[in-house]
Amino acid sequence: MYTPFNPSPVLGRVTLVGAGPGDPELLTIKALKAIQAASVLLVDDLVNPAIVAMAAPTARVIHVGKRGGCKSTPQSFIEKLMLTAAREGENVVRLKGGDPFMFGRGGEEVAHLQEAGVPVSVVNGITAGLAAVASLNVPLTHRDQAHGVLFVTGHARPGSAGIDWPCLAATAARCRLTLVVYMGVSSCADIQAGLLTGLPAQTPVALIQNASLPQQRHVLCTLAQLHDSVREQQIGSPAVMVVGEVLQGINALREQVSPVAAFRFAS
Ligand code: SAH
Repeated sequence: MYTPFNPSPVLGRVTLVGAGPGDPELLTIKALKAIQAASVLLVDDLVNPAIVAMAAPTARVIHVGKRGGCKSTPQSFIEKLMLTAAREGENVVRLKGGDPFMFGRGGEEVAHLQEAGVPVSVVNGITAGLAAVASLNVPLTHRDQAHGVLFVTGHARPGSAGIDWPCLAATAARCRLTLVVYMGVSSCADIQAGLLTGLPAQTPVALIQNASLPQQRHVLCTLAQLHDSVREQQIGSPAVMVVGEVLQGINALREQVSPVAAFRFAS
């Protein structure tokens, strides 16, 4: 039988692994096993170094993040690295913060690998929004307060249409949805203005920075106070913003302190 010549037989594989929000104990067992079995790890910048340390001592670790003053590694270069390593027979783990399919460009990477014929699989991680609300003992849905939840990015792809905050506010109000906004801190003034067109000024908001890590902090405020609170309390990235009536449960906590208050968690 004729077998077509394949110039680059694929021997290895790639696993996109969610490293969770930061706390190493929030890693899944499946993620841990994949990390331990990897011969090459491509690591995003929000991944806790304690998780990278779980890899085999022989594994090659390549950091492809943009923090720490380094420029972000272009996505095309990351994809090329994955492909090359897999074709060399490596067991590649692409380690991403949170869940690989939540604002992590995981979909693009899977598509690229599949097109190239590289075996690829995905291991979930706990996404930052889920960890953030769990740390406050707040649910995202509630039979009386929220019938669903929208996960939204505050940072649309450059050149694309921006996020339609008035539309999201109207939908959240009409359908009683909680909003969880990722990458929204730097544009919180625009987000606030857009959301105020459809949601009441008194809608509770929580900003949670470094969720699940010892340095976690959070701010509780109303939608009307959002931008001032972020500025006054110097909330920075990485943080998620939760908007909705599900936060009512912690109103009592907020009333014990000043209206705009930051709480530092005991580590
Ligand atoms: N895939 C990731 C999200 C990547 S986008 C996930 O599922 O969590 C990066 C954004 O995620 C940050 O700007 C921030 O909004 C959020 N984020 C990631 N880790 C966080 C953390 N520990 N605490 C709060 N927000 C976090």
